[in-house]
Amino acid sequence: MPIKIAVPKETAQGERRVALDPTVAARFAKLGLEVMIQKGAGRDAQFPDEAYADTRVVDDAKTLMSEADIVVKVAPPTQEEVNMMKDGATLIGFFHAHKNTDVVKALQKKKITSFAMELIPRISRAQSMDALSSQAAVAGYKAAIMGADLSCRFFPMLTTAAGTIRPSKVLVIGAGVAGLQAIATARRLGAIVEAYDVRSATKEQVESLGAKFLDLGVKAEGEGGYARELTDEEKAKQQEALAKFISQCDVLITTAAIPGRPSPMLIPQKMVDGMKSGAVIIDLAAEGGGNCELTKPGKTVTKGGVTIHGPLNVPSQVPLHASEMYAKNLLNFLSPVLADGKLNLDWNDEIIAKSCLTHDGEIKHDATRSLVEGDQK
Ligand code: NAD
Repeated sequence: MPIKIAVPKETAQGERRVALDPTVAARFAKLGLEVMIQKGAGRDAQFPDEAYADTRVVDDAKTLMSEADIVVKVAPPTQEEVNMMKDGATLIGFFHAHKNTDVVKALQKKKITSFAMELIPRISRAQSMDALSSQAAVAGYKAAIMGADLSCRFFPMLTTAAGTIRPSKVLVIGAGVAGLQAIATARRLGAIVEAYDVRSATKEQVESLGAKFLDLGVKAEGEGGYARELTDEEKAKQQEALAKFISQCDVLITTAAIPGRPSPMLIPQKMVDGMKSGAVIIDLAAEGGGNCELTKPGKTVTKGGVTIHGPLNVPSQVPLHASEMYAKNLLNFLSPVLADGKLNLDWNDEIIAKSCLTHDGEIKHDATRSLVEGDQK
């Protein structure tokens, strides 16, 4: 009997992505798996059921999930979805376990083997499986487009019979995966781009994209290539140095994040008060509370002529390409494990061991286990 891999229709509000696009679904079929999709699963990403060749279309989630050996999803599952699965099956997707401890308990109870895409270690060998990066790149691209859309100015310099228009100044704070893609996109649209990050390694990357790196004299390299949280003194120094550049920019894109912590607050209200009328802030950190004091996650607010946009789940706004990239990440994660048409989990492999959330009734991820056990006390 071939392994059955199933793709349910995403149920989270506003989620337009799908875990497998037709091309990757066909690759799984070629690997000897039986691929099943729920009717309409790819519709919002512009993949109609008919585009999935060699795939069985199943009408309802319950039938699909209860038959599957492996379920692949994008957004975190609900308890109801986990309960539809057969005991001991495998579930792969984003989980955000710290916010969804009841789901973790359901996974434990049903002895589901779950792999969280956000826990895949960020090592060279796992780059092609790194969904945090693929989806952050989508978000960074879209952030620049949103900035251009909400701005009352052109991004490029224009020389026209009606006069010469000066290019917009875009400032990007946080030059990680999303920030670098925002820089590249704003540059392609013709803006003058400046960028800042607390990790000095980003200087070269920023400059290679044709943007100017702002050296504000505050550095905070953390572990594993990430940033650490700033001290109060460093925060004050950073804000003082940033104020001048923020007051001059037309569009400010913020992406600063520290793993496992709320987004750092970098732009207090008084800095927004000093911005140009008509300026725009795109706060990509809105999901973690935002980098700007005035950000309202999921909303667009205006203060003193400045528009502050705090979009949520941005990758879902580019659903076709975001789904294709995500599906490739899943294929690259699963195909080495699927040798000989069976699921062979090598627990000595760092990628498998670190991305596993639950297995055989146990919580494998230390931080999640402490949280769930803390809940039970
Ligand atoms: P992230 O989303 O956690 O953070 C975004 C950016 O915000 C980071 O560049 C961070 O330095 C910056 N930041 C944090 N606090 C700040 C502050 N107070 N002021 C200004 N900037 C601040 O980061 P990310 O994009 O997910 O990844 C960042 C790191 O991970 C990079 O070193 C990247 O090269 C590395 N990475 C490695 C791999 C891999 O090897 N497989 C894959 C992806 C990313």
